[in-house]
Amino acid sequence: MKVCVLSGGTGTPKLIQGLKKVMPEKDITVIVNTAEDTWLGDLYLSPDIDTVLYTFSDLINEETWYGVKGDTFTTHETLKKFESNDFKEFLRIGDKDRALKMHKTHYINKGYPLSKIVDMEREIFNIKANIFPMTDDNVETKILIKEDDEGGHKNKILLKFHDFWINRKGNADVLDVFYENSNYASAVDGALDAIENCDFVIIGPSNPITSIAPILSIKDIKKAIKDKRVFAVSPIVGNSAVSGPAGVLMRAKGYSVDAVGVYKFYKDIINTLVIDNADKDKIDGIKCNVVVTNIIMNSLTDKIKLAKDIIVGYKSLDKK
Ligand code: GDP
Repeated sequence: MKVCVLSGGTGTPKLIQGLKKVMPEKDITVIVNTAEDTWLGDLYLSPDIDTVLYTFSDLINEETWYGVKGDTFTTHETLKKFESNDFKEFLRIGDKDRALKMHKTHYINKGYPLSKIVDMEREIFNIKANIFPMTDDNVETKILIKEDDEGGHKNKILLKFHDFWINRKGNADVLDVFYENSNYASAVDGALDAIENCDFVIIGPSNPITSIAPILSIKDIKKAIKDKRVFAVSPIVGNSAVSGPAGVLMRAKGYSVDAVGVYKFYKDIINTLVIDNADKDKIDGIKCNVVVTNIIMNSLTDKIKLAKDIIVGYKSLDKK
């Protein structure tokens, strides 16, 4: 059995940890959000890709879901001492993590497509799964907010996701979310082949607006997925996201922040929604197949159990 997983950089990687324990890694393909990729000074950052690479190589720092566990910060601390008006060390990046980012930057500057670089890194880490960026083109999530200026005028401002979530800590009156350039972007051929050849697609419990919608904004991917059986795991339990800004962004897009809102967001493409035991009472509002189980992944046992529940759900669908 082959699965194709759509992933951001926190919720879905937890599920991937479970999946890789219950099926051969080589049968897993992950298509990863790149709409939060950015340049930080001279360094190219592809945060979700790196988290997926570290997840498969068991290096991920599970406290933050970015960077390498046990990493040191000598370079970061040294660069901090070098700071001046036009030389800034913006983010706390660990030494080993920086090495991966420098590797990407080197090849990006040489003009290599991101998918080729990720494939090189996948081999360096001896990862058997396939990992593809959603596109080799530049697509960027932008958050449109409304803000009063000092004169009391309402201004509309288009923010980078990093500015919205890190600098403003998500405190903003969100009007809309866009995936800049997605109309002109195409999927990587290998990713489309993987979708075509997989048994089913799993939309992991990542942020629907900032991690999954950018992937689905690539037309070829959305089209390829339409012909497949698709399971989505809700990132929302009760009336809030397990973590991060999914709630505020779903509300801004006009969806309720609950399992029914997740269903409505995905309804055109999914066959089955996986929801939490706590949300059993929402089933009537969900007009597709539903798997009800524990979807909060605190331990490896939780992750393995959820991965197995999804596979059992798929197999029972196949018998219908
Ligand atoms: P990002 O790229 O760091 O924003 O991460 P993702 O988009 O991959 O994941 C963020 C989403 O994961 C949030 O909306 C969380 O609600 C969800 N999430 C985090 N941990 C869990 C979990 O244990 N279970 C479920 N169901 N969702 C989770």
